[in-house]
This record gives sequence, structure tokens and C-alpha cells, in this order.
Amino acid sequence: MGKLSKHLDTLLIHAGEPSPLIEGAVSIPIFQSGTFEYRGESSYYGLRYIRLSNTPNHLALHRKLAAVENAEAALVTASGMAAISTTLLALLSPGDHILAQGCLYGGTHNLMRVEFPRLKIEVDFIDADAPASWPSQVKTNTRAIYVETISNPLMQVIDLKGVAAFARDRGLLSIIDNTFATPVNFRPAEHGFDLSLHSATKYLNGHSDVVAGAVIGRAPLVERINRALSHLGGSLDPHACFLMHRGMKTLGVRVRQQNQAALCLARFLERHAKVASVNYPGLERHPHYLRARALFDGFGGMLSFELKGGVAAAEAFIGRVTLPICAPSLGGVESLITRPVTTSHSGMAAVDRQRAGISDSLIRFSAGLEATEDLIDDFEQALATV
Ligand code: PLP
Repeated sequence: MGKLSKHLDTLLIHAGEPSPLIEGAVSIPIFQSGTFEYRGESSYYGLRYIRLSNTPNHLALHRKLAAVENAEAALVTASGMAAISTTLLALLSPGDHILAQGCLYGGTHNLMRVEFPRLKIEVDFIDADAPASWPSQVKTNTRAIYVETISNPLMQVIDLKGVAAFARDRGLLSIIDNTFATPVNFRPAEHGFDLSLHSATKYLNGHSDVVAGAVIGRAPLVERINRALSHLGGSLDPHACFLMHRGMKTLGVRVRQQNQAALCLARFLERHAKVASVNYPGLERHPHYLRARALFDGFGGMLSFELKGGVAAAEAFIGRVTLPICAPSLGGVESLITRPVTTSHSGMAAVDRQRAGISDSLIRFSAGLEATEDLIDDFEQALATV
């Protein structure tokens, strides 16, 4: 894939919009109609019905998402997990095998660990830092490799170009969860990935008021997943499409500000005497910094860290900050803070968390749009008390 046809900010506003404008409406109206008049459509998938993801609200979003990731096609879903599960169920069959990054969002890990064995889909987890070991994990029934652009919650950046090439050389599908990076910082299709998935609940919508997902990538694959979505039913409601569409228009300005805030906070934390470690790919001492700098347009709004005082200090710190809200999720205008072991990764078996390197005292922070100085002051006062 070449470069974007226009600047990303322009595409976020104008790509995919109805043309001509519907009744001149500058903002696309909400088509809150469950079904649409039959006009002689010849196939089931051509009928116009919300579950078939083809209202004007869906179609506009599909066009916009594909344009901003420089990809062929896109599809929205009822949640990030609907995007992930529908994609994997559409592309994998009983007897198939998938390789997945060891450190992943807990819900994805649970899907693979809890549901896949019942469906006779095998999973093996790869070590992001040991690419030489990946070939030995490929089996005759391996169909796909699944990674996250910036892993949740440790902010690893696996060799993304290497993953895409590894998949291409072996005829595997390459699937990436691009939620943390967003198309502002990384566009998977430009680096050879077949499919990019999002929890649109996070940055794409950006206002913590919607649950949604997206699948973006090669058109025949997206079409296959769209058909599976219409069978499995995890389709997005038009009102949620509208909110996500509205949120996406400000994605560029939001994410650039969040990149900046997270970098400042990461630098502040790494210098603080009470902080044991900071995970942020924009820090020079992050093991994947050079790779992230080469691949990304920004390092993202997410960071995680550990305090020297362990779990007790982490709990005290989270209790003392006044601006970030302690809640699961991320990517909204409000800063959020959490211990993943109590929220996003609480469903993962303790042994799997340990293996992935996720400690009980790890704190994850999602930078919002508050003034960075205020966030730093808040962190400073909270750290003084732990
Ligand atoms: N992918 C990542 C990286 C996530 O962090 C999450 C949720 O936190 C998901 C997928 C699942 O998204 P949703 O909650 O929209 O189903």
C-alpha cells in the first residue's frame, strides 16, 4: 500500500461521507430504521437490514475506516470483542491452529483460552522477543498469526514488519489489533497486514459513551467476515454508528494530544524516585523504542508502570490521584487508571498473567485530554503520599 490519498485529518472529516449530502445535512443523519423497503435485491446479503450492517450509517463508516487505514474495506461491529471473535470464527475452522502474541488484551486471551478448545481450534502463544522461535511453532494446520500493535498492558512492540513477512512467507493470515496505536500512529495495511481490528469503544469513538468494534483490511476477507457477522449477529446499531462517526472526526487532534501527554507523563515517571519501571514505547530506554520510532507516527496515549512499594503503593496511588478515574477501558477524553489484574486482565489465569509478565502491582494509565501540567501535578501529589 502506498501513502494516504490525503492527510489523515482531511480523510477523518471527509472520507466516506454521503455524496451528495443527504437533504444537505452536514452531519450524517441517524437511520434508525430496523429494515428498509425491498427493492428486488437478489441475495440475502443485499437486503437492507441493520443486522446486515448496510444502513447508510454503516456504509459511511465502512468507507471512512478503510480510507483512514489506507485499506481496501472495513466493517463495524457491536464491540471490539465482536470484531475479534467474528473475525477468528469466520477464518478458522475446527482443527485449525493459530499463533498469538503471549501478551494480549485479557478478553482476547480468554476467547482463545476458554472458547477455542471447545471449538477444537488450537492456539500457541509466541514470545514477542524471540522471533527465532516462531518457525518451530508453525504446524501444518496453522492458519493465522495474531498480534497487537502496542500490547495491552505492557506496551510491547513486536517486530511488526517481521510478523507480516513471517505470515506472508508461510501463507498465514496476519491479524493485528490496532486499538492502542489507532490509524493516527500506525496503519497496518501499509505494512502488509491482512486485517486490522479495533475496539472502537476506545480511541476511534473517543468519548467513553459507546461500545463498538471495527475490522479493516483486504476486501475479500472483510466480505467473508461481514457474512459471518450477519450469521453471528454482533452488528452495530445505527445510533452507535452515528456516535462513532462523530467521534472519529476528531481522532487526529485527540490522539496527537494524547501521544504528547503520555510521553510527558512517562518521562516524569521514569525520573521519579518512587517509580520502579515505566512501559512506554516512546521512552529511549524502552526495549522496542527504535522499532516504534521507525514504524509509528506517534507512540500512543497508553502507558503502564510499577511503583517501588508494590501492590499497596499502587492501590494508594490510584486512590489518591484526583483527575484520572479508576475504571477499565481507555482512549477517551477523560484520563483513566487501573490495575489490569483487577480489570482488563482479571479473567486471565494467574499463571498466564505471570508468564506474560503482568504483575499484580502494574498500573495502566490512559491519557485523556486534560492539561498535561495538571496531570503531572496530580501524579506528583499522589506519589508524595505513597
Ligand atoms: N482490544 C483491546 C486492545 C482492548 O483493550 C479491548 C478492550 O479493552 C478490546 C480489544 C475489546 O474491546 P470491547 O470492550 O470494545 O469489546
